[in-house]
Amino acid sequence: MLIQIIRRTIQITGIIFIIVVPFVSLYGVLVENYRLAMVDGEGWQRFFDKIDTLVRYFGEDTAKVARSVKGSLFWSVTIKDFNISDPLTFVGSLFGSLGFYSKLFISILPLVVITVLLGRVYCGWICPMNLMFELNGKIRNILRKVGVDTFNVSFARLNKYMMLIAGAVLTLVLGVQVFSFIYPPILFNRELIHLIYFGSVGVGGVVLVMIFLFEISISQRAWCRYFCPGGALWSLMGAKRLVQVTIDREICDDCGKCNLACEFGLDPMRGKMGMECDNCGKCISKCKPDALKYSLVLPWQKGGVRMERDEKKEDEKLKTVSN
Ligand code: SF4
Ligand code: SF4
Repeated sequence: MLIQIIRRTIQITGIIFIIVVPFVSLYGVLVENYRLAMVDGEGWQRFFDKIDTLVRYFGEDTAKVARSVKGSLFWSVTIKDFNISDPLTFVGSLFGSLGFYSKLFISILPLVVITVLLGRVYCGWICPMNLMFELNGKIRNILRKVGVDTFNVSFARLNKYMMLIAGAVLTLVLGVQVFSFIYPPILFNRELIHLIYFGSVGVGGVVLVMIFLFEISISQRAWCRYFCPGGALWSLMGAKRLVQVTIDREICDDCGKCNLACEFGLDPMRGKMGMECDNCGKCISKCKPDALKYSLVLPWQKGGVRMERDEKKEDEKLKTVSN
């Protein structure tokens, strides 16, 4: 349970951040142009007063503070002089320009290192879309309860790796960052900025709505499971992660709750998670103590099953009981 509280807190903090930052930038623009006092509406005046108080907390030169965070948190962001970017940005830039930008490469390293060590945790713990796509499952449950049928079609997981390759090839051919048009975290971030600045959403909003409707009616968690090029990249980078969910088959009583909890359709009960697992820990939270847990698995060790069940011992136990 604690794992899920921490995970939700991180996800929600990310979402609050991407809502607050565009407002702070807008505030900065207003301050620089001496238009803060001219904002229409009492409600908006009060709102920008609150932002003013928040910004002053970080320094008296409010315009400078507002300028210190630039970009999109879920694509490439600069906080003071520190840059952090999504590795998919680098892939796009590499294929789009056929150039190696060392600054961009350095900016993806924090997330690359985290992923190599902890696996696809960006998906399970950071991506704002994960939280929203998980809500789709709840909507599906409500629809089922009121008698509306939903489908759950499976697709090949390979599709998302094909999307990654196809996106890279298209970026090479067109010279445009194709990923930025289909990658949900950046779509969401960009549309939110658009909404805050211009009061409208663009075509990215339509793409997101289509994904939501598809997941609700046709295939649960389809995007992350089968189609996300970012998900494919995170999976590849975290294939040999050091921290993995493992199962102790001696303790497991085959109740199957973990498999039901896994929205990625993996098989934690038999230790078959592979590189798709995002270490979200939902299976651990549903499991009895210690059967499933996070373990350190070194690259030369086999992951998945921590302790195999001793079938012989179990047979003997059953025989004794039946005698
Ligand atoms: S698969 Fe894509 S959309 Fe899903 S959580 Fe990962 S990065 Fe976000
Ligand atoms: S196996 Fe467990 S930790 Fe991995 S994705 Fe499924 S629920 Fe999350």
